[in-house]
Amino acid sequence: MTEKRPKPKCCAITRVSDFRRHECSNNAKVERNGKWYCGAHDPVVRAERQAKRDAVDDARHERKRARWRMNVAAPGLLAALEDAVGTAELGSCADGTQVTRWRAAIAKAEGADR
Ligand SMILES: [Zn+2]
Repeated sequence: MTEKRPKPKCCAITRVSDFRRHECSNNAKVERNGKWYCGAHDPVVRAERQAKRDAVDDARHERKRARWRMNVAAPGLLAALEDAVGTAELGSCADGTQVTRWRAAIAKAEGADR
């Protein structure tokens, strides 16, 4: 009669609260560096999940930075556009359609189109 070896259990310690911790009760699926882990606590899978979360956070952070840059640059861009429109109107180097479009953009930036 062969002795049946018990299935290895996951060695992960999970935190229930700041004071309570307990061992994971799942059956182990993979061995990493001599320790057994279930699918939820496999360090390789956890690292992949964390990398995905970090990529999402980085993208969100970059969108925020881009918005912030635009907010900081907007007053200067608006002033430059107003100068350019004034110059174009004086020198008539732009056609009426362009100047109308620029004036509309300025009005929108100033909230005058509402
Ligand atoms: Zn586990």
